[in-house]
Amino acid sequence: STPGGSKTCEENIRVTVRIRPLSRREQAMYDLIAWECLDRNTIINKSPNQEKATVPFIFDRVFDPSCSTQTVYEEGAKDVALSALKGINSTVFTYGQTSSGKTYTMHGITENAIKDIYEYIHENPDKEFVLKLSALEIYNEHVYDLLNVESGSLRLLDDPEKGTIVEKLVEQVIKGRQHLQQLISICEAQRQVGETALNDKSSRSHQIIRLTIQSSITEDSGRIKTFIASLNLVDLAGSERASQTNASGTRLKEGSHINRSLLTLMNVIRKLSVEKRGSHIPYRDSKLTRILQHSLGGNARTAMICTASPALSHIEQTKNTLSFATSAK
Ligand code: ADP
Ligand code: MG
Repeated sequence: STPGGSKTCEENIRVTVRIRPLSRREQAMYDLIAWECLDRNTIINKSPNQEKATVPFIFDRVFDPSCSTQTVYEEGAKDVALSALKGINSTVFTYGQTSSGKTYTMHGITENAIKDIYEYIHENPDKEFVLKLSALEIYNEHVYDLLNVESGSLRLLDDPEKGTIVEKLVEQVIKGRQHLQQLISICEAQRQVGETALNDKSSRSHQIIRLTIQSSITEDSGRIKTFIASLNLVDLAGSERASQTNASGTRLKEGSHINRSLLTLMNVIRKLSVEKRGSHIPYRDSKLTRILQHSLGGNARTAMICTASPALSHIEQTKNTLSFATSAK
């Protein structure tokens, strides 16, 4: 086969890896850097005392610790995020172990995406846009509304037209860029408030910020053409929640439900990457994948940014993250 000639189908999932700098804590403990980015696509384990030669991992892009969040956004998420403006559902995930930089990265991606979305809106005065925001958290397979925390655990319903919907989930019509930023700050703060009550909550919960964009254009004939699509910004539970369960063989039962959404998502993503027409994708096995079903696979576009610590002390978790990321391609 010709070099590079085998990739004929359009890329639907973009998988990138971001290595954060050593944290202060890691530095204080004289932790070592265990990974080296060889080029824009390749990362290799360079830790000493290797028993056997290590195999490099190759991705659509590898961001070394010096890369800014802006770069991560532009090269890892922008195309996918902005496709929602053109009527294509899209999802951006951050995946990685706790403290690897998921929330930090997703915060920056959200800011950059909002900026670009409003720029696009201003550059297209011939189109009319309606933006709506909803935000939810999945914790222990319960769904909570981040825009209305009083409402408690919400049910999922199957709508014949819309697919899975979250009953009573607030959908706020956005009045402008500032309003949107304000609401997102509230959601982020809300999640942190929960965290003080149960300090490892964010390592167990998934957060979805969903921006639904409706755009209408009046054609020369006078007919109005309308597109509607959602951009889902998903900050996942810590990936150690999946590997621990795998390692110990713990069954998914009450009490370990924390992992069901993450494990199912990983399954769905792996199956989509080797998708054969008509193959069964287990969307219905978790709340997270039910909610995201129409924004994953099919015509939807997905970006997965895998975050990792560079530290030697986290090498096993980072290897797990990179292995999963490899299987997603
Ligand atoms: P996670 O959400 O994966 O648990 P966080 O996003 O909370 O991890 O990151 C853990 C800590 O590391 C935070 O203090 C965060 O500010 C910091 N951090 C993460 N990524 C970076 C980065 N690329 N550059 C600088 N600091 C970072
Ligand atoms: Mg976090």
